[in-house]
Amino acid sequence: MALDDTLFDAKHIWHPYSSLKSYFPIHQVTSASGVRLTLADGREVIDGMSSWWAAIHGYNHPRLNQAITDQLDDMAHVMFGGLTHQPAIKLARQLIEITAEPLQTIFFSDSGSVAVEVAIKMAIQHWFAQGKPNKQRLLTLRNGYHGDTFGAMAVCDPENGMHSMFKQVLPKHLFAPAPSCVTDADYQDSDIAEFRQLISTHHHEIAAVILEPLVQNAGGMNFYCPEYLRQVRALCDDYNVLLILDEIATNFGRTGTMFAYEQADICPDILCLGKALTGGYMTLAATLCTDNVAAGIAADGKGVLMHGPTYMANPLACAVASENLAILAESHWQQQVADIESQMEIELMPYKQYEGVADVRVKGGIGVVELIKPLDNSVMQWLPAFFVDKGVWLRPFGKLIYIMPPFIIEPADLSMLTDVIGKALLRPADDT
Ligand SMILES: *Cc1c(COP(=O)(O)O)cnc(C)c1O
Repeated sequence: MALDDTLFDAKHIWHPYSSLKSYFPIHQVTSASGVRLTLADGREVIDGMSSWWAAIHGYNHPRLNQAITDQLDDMAHVMFGGLTHQPAIKLARQLIEITAEPLQTIFFSDSGSVAVEVAIKMAIQHWFAQGKPNKQRLLTLRNGYHGDTFGAMAVCDPENGMHSMFKQVLPKHLFAPAPSCVTDADYQDSDIAEFRQLISTHHHEIAAVILEPLVQNAGGMNFYCPEYLRQVRALCDDYNVLLILDEIATNFGRTGTMFAYEQADICPDILCLGKALTGGYMTLAATLCTDNVAAGIAADGKGVLMHGPTYMANPLACAVASENLAILAESHWQQQVADIESQMEIELMPYKQYEGVADVRVKGGIGVVELIKPLDNSVMQWLPAFFVDKGVWLRPFGKLIYIMPPFIIEPADLSMLTDVIGKALLRPADDT
């Protein structure tokens, strides 16, 4: 029975970044609770991924479950065109309250990629309505990741492989080097020089700068310093370019502050939120902008923002997001993230000395082991299964083995994650 399902899955169902012609082991999950996933064969694994940054309070949380069932009694969904509802209003109030004061308007969408699309449209429409139709390009950073839809793909790193085959159909944007200053003390003027050159040469055609603040996630888990962000903000102001911050991965405490931009003490013009917004329960994202951006879009008297997803502001998703934020506010997340950070510092840093390891770095609830060589297909045939056999759920990619566990993880469970990574690093390459 279980085998049949696995074979059916392998033959018929696409998974993220998968092929239906090359087989990689896959596991069926039957339930999840706290930081543990239960597999169909009865095994339990400790989750080191928070289901891609999302499940910050763990799985099967009684309050999040209740929020959804309560909302279900009223209505699961209703269109947002011409109608509104309490779950959306309540969530918007909460988000406007916890984000920087100038961010006063909010657009709800159904995924992070779409939140990025909306942000790009906002920026272009803002200038268009003010008689600046040439400001249509974006300036971004190499190693970035902003999603899989075409507009978002066009600002992902053009070389790192994920989207390179679509080059011909994507708009050509401007790319500055990935920042390399790790701390403000390391920061040098040369770090921003190429970015400054690009913005000063092209500002008349640039609508916005878009970047992931402090942590570039799926494009390589690169960490960089707040001073770089402050410089970017200042250059955007000098050259009349909007600043879009994509906090979809970093939002809601992951880097140690509620939003990463707080560490640089700056405010974006447009802010993208997603992933942990619903605590890993439902797909929902949001794009916030300042009154200035919103007013710009309407400046010609008829400018309406040209976007409107069918499931916009889905009430179930808004209700669970609201409760997720309430739990966060009542929890000691700063302490939880700080504890995870210091434990990972102690337990992961020794791997820096291991053969094949290029770097180990930790920031907030994110721990990264970067290898010298990318994990090739032969390693990927055993490594994921090795992790599961040892009782942990990790999903390495490229040169990276990384963890970003739910904030509620206990020290012993976190030690399991870091320990199994160490064991994998020591495993001889030919021992299959
Ligand atoms: C995951 C991610 C996205 C895309 O979000 P989806 O919900 O997968 O569409 C965009 N930007 C960043 C920084 C992300 O981490």
